Amino acid sequence: MPSTDPAGAAAPVAHFINGRRAGVASARWGDVFDPASGRLRARVPLACAATVGEAVAAAAAAQPAWAEWPPLRRARVLFRCRELLERRLDALAAIVTGEHGKTLEDARGEVVRGMEVVEFACGIPQLLKGEFSGQIGDGLDSWSMRQPLGVCAGVTPFNFPAMVPMWMWPLAIACGNAFVLKPSERDPSASLFVAELLAEAGLPKGVFNVVHGDGEAVDALLRDARVAALSFVGSTAVAERVYAAGCAQGKRVQALGGAKNHLVVMPDADLEQAVEALVGAAYGSAGERCMAISVAVAVGGVADELVDRLAARVRALRIGPGTAPGVEMGPLVTRRHLETVCGYVELGVAEGARLLVDGRGLTVPGHEDGFFLGGCLFDGVTADMRIYREEIFGPVLCVVRVPDLAAALRLINAHELANGTAVFTRSGGVAREFARRVEVGMVGVNVPIPVPMAFHGFAGWKRSLFGDHAMHGPDGVRFYTRPKTVTGRWPQDAADMAHFAMPTH
Ligand code: NAD
Repeated sequence: MPSTDPAGAAAPVAHFINGRRAGVASARWGDVFDPASGRLRARVPLACAATVGEAVAAAAAAQPAWAEWPPLRRARVLFRCRELLERRLDALAAIVTGEHGKTLEDARGEVVRGMEVVEFACGIPQLLKGEFSGQIGDGLDSWSMRQPLGVCAGVTPFNFPAMVPMWMWPLAIACGNAFVLKPSERDPSASLFVAELLAEAGLPKGVFNVVHGDGEAVDALLRDARVAALSFVGSTAVAERVYAAGCAQGKRVQALGGAKNHLVVMPDADLEQAVEALVGAAYGSAGERCMAISVAVAVGGVADELVDRLAARVRALRIGPGTAPGVEMGPLVTRRHLETVCGYVELGVAEGARLLVDGRGLTVPGHEDGFFLGGCLFDGVTADMRIYREEIFGPVLCVVRVPDLAAALRLINAHELANGTAVFTRSGGVAREFARRVEVGMVGVNVPIPVPMAFHGFAGWKRSLFGDHAMHGPDGVRFYTRPKTVTGRWPQDAADMAHFAMPTH
């Protein structure tokens, strides 16, 4: 792993190509920080097209033999990988916390949620089972199977450096593909750790490769005709661009974008539960989650008490380095991101929203240069404000007041981002109506962050997902394979072989 040098000079993070660490001779470099101290932690090479090409070539060379492994044998590699992940859970979580900033407990949770996809992929012999129809005509049988695509690529965001790649590679390789991962350049080390762990689990070299980089590396993946499919997770603007460019190159693409997730608090909700759920969902991981709640929709008379209780709870948030026990919220990922989020807080004030809790200027003793921002809470936010329309991706919660459920649904359904949402209520009828009418991909009923399990698919709607396939679940198998249908017979003689009209039996 990259070593931390207190003087500021930090070791490079390596690519992982064809089964080994590679290429720390790079023309361009990015900085990786420890967000809690603000210090430089490592330097990451930003791959050029030639380095990306090397990784794709290694994947293309390894894939045909890997695809010939029976699914059961491929699954056994994943079983071993799962065991290693469990054994090294704390080490991987520490890497995530060290570069992302989230609390260790949260980092462990992210790794476990990722491991669940590995566990799902261990069932690949069952998941790849085809369909058979006997005697579809006289002496004729037909069967369908799913075959791998070849080389698949993944491009992932900073906020879940272990879990989001695990939404992709376990199923991609279980299906018989080779994989090239381009993780976020802001926290790249978790991917290198996982690559070495997969090698230890017995994965043949070249089946899983990691290239670090930025948009230049992604463009190289998009241009490379050997890459059959690309899975992307990141901001909406980049997701849309990657989706369009990948489709234009004839690739299969799934591109998950940004979010603005609303949590509706009905007047009959258990307010204590709703406040605790909101605080965890809005400020956990410093709001840097695609399923974070960033809008609280207060319905009818619930608003004043909800806002009072929320403000008290936000002021009491325990903020500090992710490694400290009892901390609820760590720093933001970089100083630049901290400045962007602070810019939104300033904008909200200028737009006329009431800033009830201002987390700017927070100093954590002993961590004065860390990228910390206290929880921020706005009341009186309206649908025309930019702080409502745009994704802030920080610890900023906006309260919007509406008169009734119908108005809450109109508000949510008018937003272009539609990843997750939730309703807090004691009424089954209201919950049912909400779940049926809301135009959002993932819905919680008294569950603030309704992230589907590995055996269901993860997918938003509208401009939160470009493409037709959810991540993981049955859709993951469909995305990383293509169906083939065979029709066959074993005739005894040549009679009746010449058909000039469509057969009708
Ligand atoms: P980002 O869009 O800046 O970067 C995502 C990936 O794209 C990175 O690997 C990055 O190197 C690459 N990239 C950046 N600019 C590019 C460009 N111009 N061309 C090609 N590739 C480019 O996102 P981020 O800041 O790393 O992550 C936060 C975003 O990800 C938020 O918008 C969040 O909502 C979203 N996200 C969505 C989901 C989801 O499931 N929908 C999950 C996690 C994160």
